[in-house]
Amino acid sequence: MAPTNLDTAGNLRAMVLQYINQNDVMIFSKTTCPFCKKVKDLFTSLKAPFQALELDKEGNGGQIQDLLKEMTGQGTVPNVFIRGKHLGGNDDTQKAHAEGRLSLLLNPTETSSSYEYDLVVLGGGSGGLAAAKEAASFGKNVAVCDFVKPTPKGTTWGLGGTCVNVGCIPKKLMHQSAVLGDSIRDAKKYGWNVTDSATHEWGELRDAVQNHIGSLNWGYKVALRDQDVTYVNGYAEFIDEHTVKTVNKRGKEKVLKSERFVLATGMRPRYPDIPGLKEYAVTSDDLFSLPYCPNKTLCIGASYVSLECAGFLRGMGLDVTVMVRSILLRGFDQEMADRAGEHMEQHGVNFIRKAVPKKVEKILEGTPGLFRVTYEPTDGGEEQVIECNTILVAVGRDACTKNIGLEKIGVMTNSKNGKVPVVNEQTNIPHVYAVGDIIEGNLELTPVAIQAGRLLARRLYGGKTEQCDYVNVPTTVFTPLEYGSCGLAEEDAIAQYGESNIEVYHSMYQPLEYTVADRDKESCYAKIICNKNDSERVVGLHILGPNAGEVMQGYAVAMKCGATKAHFDSTIGIHPTVSEVFTTLQTTKRSGVSIKAGGC
Ligand code: FAD
Ligand code: NDP
Repeated sequence: MAPTNLDTAGNLRAMVLQYINQNDVMIFSKTTCPFCKKVKDLFTSLKAPFQALELDKEGNGGQIQDLLKEMTGQGTVPNVFIRGKHLGGNDDTQKAHAEGRLSLLLNPTETSSSYEYDLVVLGGGSGGLAAAKEAASFGKNVAVCDFVKPTPKGTTWGLGGTCVNVGCIPKKLMHQSAVLGDSIRDAKKYGWNVTDSATHEWGELRDAVQNHIGSLNWGYKVALRDQDVTYVNGYAEFIDEHTVKTVNKRGKEKVLKSERFVLATGMRPRYPDIPGLKEYAVTSDDLFSLPYCPNKTLCIGASYVSLECAGFLRGMGLDVTVMVRSILLRGFDQEMADRAGEHMEQHGVNFIRKAVPKKVEKILEGTPGLFRVTYEPTDGGEEQVIECNTILVAVGRDACTKNIGLEKIGVMTNSKNGKVPVVNEQTNIPHVYAVGDIIEGNLELTPVAIQAGRLLARRLYGGKTEQCDYVNVPTTVFTPLEYGSCGLAEEDAIAQYGESNIEVYHSMYQPLEYTVADRDKESCYAKIICNKNDSERVVGLHILGPNAGEVMQGYAVAMKCGATKAHFDSTIGIHPTVSEVFTTLQTTKRSGVSIKAGGC
C-alpha cells in the first residue's frame, strides 16, 4: 500500500514511516541492484506479498535513502522491514530465512485472545492517563505503568507525570505567588492600608503547593480505579513485542501481555557534562519541593523553564540571574522574546548573556549552601565567576526512550534526541503507539499530549477517525508578565510567505489596572501577523501582558476558524480589557508609525 499523503516537501519522514507500518513487508529497493532482485525473488517464492519502493525511480530517492540511514543505521539497499520492524539487507533476510526466523516474523503465532490486556500504557502522565482512561471508557482492558526515577538529589513524586508534579501546576501556582507580590504593591495605590513589611515565606508556599499536588495524585489514582484501569507503580520495559516487565521500587517484578501499547514516558531534565553541575545543581524536578528557600539563584538556560522559574523567584523577592547561551526562547517570535526579557530585566532579573558554565564548586555547606560557578563568554572572552546559593539547570530535556526495551522490539527512535517518529501517533511497529513529549516534531505541552492520547484511543476503540491537529496550538510563557502566542512567529511567517506578503499590525498598550498603580507603561505589546495573499488571514497572534494565557485561548479558536484581520476589526471589543487590543490594531509595522500606548 502506498501512503496517502505523499507530501514529500515537508513530510518525508512521515511518508517513509507510513510505507513501513502500512505494509507487512516493505522493501526499499533499486531497480538496478542485483541484491534487491534477490530479496524480492525470495518473498515472491514464499508467496509473501510485499511493497517495493524503487528509490532510483523516485525524485527524492536519495533523501529517502539518507533518512533510512538516519533511522536504521543502514545506508544501503535493499532495506527490508517486516511488520514495521527493521530486518536489514539481502544477507540479513536470506539468513533469517535460512534460520527459520523469517516465517515467524511473517506469521506471528500469538492472537489477540492470548493477551491479558487490550492496551498497556507506559507512563502515567498527561498523555498516558488520557489514552488509558479513554480506552477504558470503551470497555477495554487497560493497564498504566508509571514510575518516577528519583532525581540526582533524590526527589520523587506521585502519579500524574511532569505537568502535575514538577511542571505546569506547581509552576503556575508559584507564578501566581509572584503576581500577588505585584498586587500587594499595587494595593496601596488602590486605597488599601498595606504595611511595607510584607515578606515571602518559601516554606509556606512550597507546602501549600505540595499539598495541592498530593490531592491531585490521589485524584488520579481514584479516577483509574473508578474506570477499572489497572495501575502498576513500576518501571516498564519491553521484553518482547507484546510483553512488558515492570519493576517496582522494592525490586518486585510483574509481567504484562498486551495486544497494543502506548508509549507516553515523557522527558526529564538534561545535565550538561560540566564538573560539579550534576552534584550541586537542581532542576525543575527538584525546585518546587525544595526543602529550603533557594535564595540567590542562577538559572542556566534561556527557554521556557529557565525564564519562568527565574520570573517567579524574582517575583518572590529573590536575587536571580539568568545565564543565556545565545537567544531567549528559541523557536518563539524573537521580538516578543526580547520584550519579555526586557521586562524581566526591568523587574530586577539579572542576565549574563552569551555565556556558558564551565565548572561548579561548593564554597559553603548548608541549605542552601554557597556555590561558585565559573563561566566563559561564548565569544571566547575571559572566564568569570558568579556566586550563588542555588543553581537551577534548565538546558533542555531528554526523551525517556532509552532503557525501555524499544530496541528489542524494533521501535525506531531518532538517534540524536531519542524522540519517536510517528505517523498519526503510530510508530514503525504497528501495534505500538506514542503520544506526548516523546514524539518527534511535537510541541511539548500538556494539552497536546492529552488531546493526542484521547483521540488515539477513540480511533483505536471507538470507531472514530479524528486526528490530533498539531497546527496553531496556543501557548503561554509565564515570565511572570505573560507572553501568549498562537501560530507563526514573525520570522517564520516571513520565511514561509515572504516579507512583502505579510502584514503585521501592532501596538503597545497599558492595561487600565496598571495606570492607577503607576507601573509598566511600555511593557505590554500585541501584534497580529496576516497573510496578505489570503484575505489577510491571521497566521500569527502574539501578546505580552497580564493574563495573556486567558486572552489567547479564545483567539486560538478564532484562528482555528480561519479568522482574517477583517473579522478582528468587525469584532466589538470588551472595554476596558487587555484582550480588546486585538480588535483595535490599526498600525502596520511597515508604516513605522509610533505605537506608544494612548488613553481610551
Ligand atoms: P509526562 O507528563 O512527563 O509523563 C510521563 C510519565 O511516565 C512520568 O510520570 C514518568 O515518570 C513515567 N515514566 C517514564 N518512563 C517510564 C517507564 N519506563 N515506566 C513507567 N513509567 C515511566 N506544558 C503546558 O502545557 N503548560 C505549562 O505551563 C507547562 N509548564 C511546564 C513547566 C515545567 C517546569 C516543565 C518541565 C514542563 C511544563 N510543561 C507545560 C510541559 C508539560 O509538563 C509536558 O508537555 C507534559 O507533562 C507531557 O506529558 P507526557 O504524557 O508526554 O509526559
Ligand atoms: P528547551 O530545549 O526549550 O531550551 C533549552 C535552553 O537551554 C535553551 O535556551 C538553550 O540555549 C539552553 N542550553 C542548552 N544547552 C545548553 C548548555 N550546554 N549551556 C547553556 N545553555 C544551554 O528546554 P526547556 O527545558 O526550557 O523546555 C522544554 C519544553 O517544556 C519546552 O519546549 C516547552 O514545550 C515545555 N514547557 C512549556 C511551558 C509552558 O507551556 N508554559 C513551560 C515550561 C516548559 P540555545 O537557545 O542556545 O540552544
